[in-house]
Amino acid sequence: MINRLNRRSFLRVTGLGAAVATVGSCSDGENTAGTGNLSGTTTSAVTTTSRPAPVPPDWNALRERLGGALVQSSEAGYDEARRSVNTLYDNHSPLAIAYCTTVDHIKACVELARVSHTPLAARSGGHSYTGYSVPDGGLVVDVRRMSGVDVRPDGTVMVGAGARLIDVYTALGAAGRCLPAGSCPTVGIAGLTLGGGLGVVARKYGLTCDRLVGAQVVTADGALHTVSQANEPDLFWALRGGGGGNFGIATSFTFSTEPSPDVTVFHLDYRDGAAATVVGAWQELFASAPDELWAAVALDGGSPVKCSVSGCFVGPQSGLMPLLDRLARTAGKPSNRLVQQKSYLDAMRYFAGCGNKTAEQCAADSPRSAFMASSRILSGPLTDPAALVALVDGRPDLNLLVDSLGGAVARIAPEDTAFPHRAALGTVQIYHKTTKDGQAAAARAVAETRDALARLGVRGGYVNYIEAAMPDWGVAYYGANLNRLGSVARRYDPDDVFSFPQSIQQA
Ligand SMILES: Cc1cc2nc3c(=O)[nH]c(=O)nc-3n(C[C@H](O)[C@H](O)[C@H](O)COP(=O)(O)OP(=O)(O)OC[C@H]3O[C@@H](n4cnc5c(N)ncnc54)[C@H](O)[C@@H]3O)c2cc1C
Repeated sequence: MINRLNRRSFLRVTGLGAAVATVGSCSDGENTAGTGNLSGTTTSAVTTTSRPAPVPPDWNALRERLGGALVQSSEAGYDEARRSVNTLYDNHSPLAIAYCTTVDHIKACVELARVSHTPLAARSGGHSYTGYSVPDGGLVVDVRRMSGVDVRPDGTVMVGAGARLIDVYTALGAAGRCLPAGSCPTVGIAGLTLGGGLGVVARKYGLTCDRLVGAQVVTADGALHTVSQANEPDLFWALRGGGGGNFGIATSFTFSTEPSPDVTVFHLDYRDGAAATVVGAWQELFASAPDELWAAVALDGGSPVKCSVSGCFVGPQSGLMPLLDRLARTAGKPSNRLVQQKSYLDAMRYFAGCGNKTAEQCAADSPRSAFMASSRILSGPLTDPAALVALVDGRPDLNLLVDSLGGAVARIAPEDTAFPHRAALGTVQIYHKTTKDGQAAAARAVAETRDALARLGVRGGYVNYIEAAMPDWGVAYYGANLNRLGSVARRYDPDDVFSFPQSIQQA
C-alpha cells in the first residue's frame, strides 16, 4: 500500500541520515520516461478484440460541450496531458484528453465513447500501475479539476472525484476530522476508493471504501446515479473494492469520518541479516496486535537484504512503547529508531513525505517514476519467513513491502463489499524500480517473485496494485465476489463501454 519513499524526502522528514528509505509517499524521483514499445514485455495498451469498429467521433461537438477543454493528439500540450505517474506509459497515445469540470462534461464524454465505440477511461490521480487511465486510441476523461473537499457539520465529507489525497487530508485536518486513506499525496481519491484503499490507520478505521456512504456515478447510458446503501445497493456494493474504471465514472464520493486522533509514527532499521527474524516477529505481533497499531516491513533487495519496519499507532507514544518492546523481544533491537507523536494531519503529511512544504508544493514535487509492480495477499503467517526474504536476496531494485491488514478491515465480511481480502494478515507488494530499457527484465523479476509467492501459499492480489500480467486476475483481485461483480457490470454497462484489458467483463 505504501510505495517507496523518495529517499531524500524521507531523510529530511525523519532526520535519520543513515536510514534506509522504506515507508512513505511516492516512488523514487528518477524520471526515466521513454517512448516506443518493447517486444516481449507486457504492455497495458487498452485494446479490445470484441469491440464494434470505431466510427469517427465528433470531436468538435465534444469540444464545444467541454467549453474548449479538449486536447487532441495533434495539439499543443498533448504530451503533458497524456502523462501517467508511471513513466513507462508515457508512450500511451490516447486520441484526446477531456478536462471535465461538470457532470455534464462527463456525460458528454461517455456519450461520445458509446456512440463512436471509442475506448474511454477516467483519470483521477493518474497512478494506475499499468497506465489504464490513459487508453491507447481512446479518450481520457480527466476529472482532476473536480477536486472540491467539503467537510460537513454532520461529520461526513463530500470529495470531488479528482481530489488528491493531500487535498483531502489538508481539508479534513483543518476541520479536525480523519478519513483512512493512502500515503502518496497525489494518488486520486477515485482510484484509491474504488479499489479498496489501504492506509496507515486502516486497522483502526477501515479501508477508504469502508467509509463510503454515497457516490455519484455517470454510467454507460450517460445517466447520473446517486448511489448509497439505500439507493442502488448493488452498484454501491461494487464501488467498494470492485476496481476503478468498471461501472461508470464517479464524479463525487461522500465518506463518513472520525474525529482526528493524535498518532505516533515510528521507523525502525535493522542490522544486516535480521530480515527473516523481523518478518517472523512482525507476524507474531500482528497475530494479536491492537487495532491502533499498523506496521509494514520493507525488504529492500540486494546483498544483503535490507530490512526496516515503519508504522504508526493511533494514540500517544506511551501506548506504542510496550508494543515496540514486544516487537524487540523477538525481532531484536533495531539499529536505528525514530518515534514521534504527531497530530493526525502532521502524521499524514509525514507519510506523504511533505516535510515543511505546502500541500501544493508537496504535490508538485511528488515524483513520477518507472516501475513494474504486483502484489499478493498474505492470508496468514508464513511458516518460513526466510523464504520470503530469499526472494529478494541478491536482487537490487526489487523490493517487497509487507503491510498489515486485520482489525477493522477484518470485521467486515468478505461478501459485504466487493473487497474480498477481509481475513488476510496483510498484503505483499512487489515493486521493481526500472527504466524503459529495463522494463522486460523488471517484468520478469516481478512475475517470478509473484509466482514464487504463490508457491509459498501467498496468493490473490490487490486490484489497486493492478498488474497486466497477473495470472487469473479476476479471481486474484475479487475472489468469490467476481461473479456478482460481473452481474453488476453487465447490468450497468450492457454494451461494455468501459472495457479495458482487466475490466470486470473481461474476467
Ligand atoms: C506512488 C503510489 C502510491 C500509492 N499508495 C497507495 C496507498 O497508500 N494505498 C493504496 O491502497 N493504494 C496505493 N496506491 C495504489 C493506488 O491506490 C492505485 O494506483 C489507484 O488506482 C490510483 O488511483 P488514481 O485515481 O490515482 O489513478 P488513475 O490512474 O487515475 O485511476 C486508476 C483506475 O481507476 C479508474 N478511475 C479513475 N478515476 C475514476 C473515476 N472518477 N471513476 C471511475 N473510475 C476511475 C481509472 O480509469 C483507472 O482504471 C499507490 C500507487 C502509487 C503509484
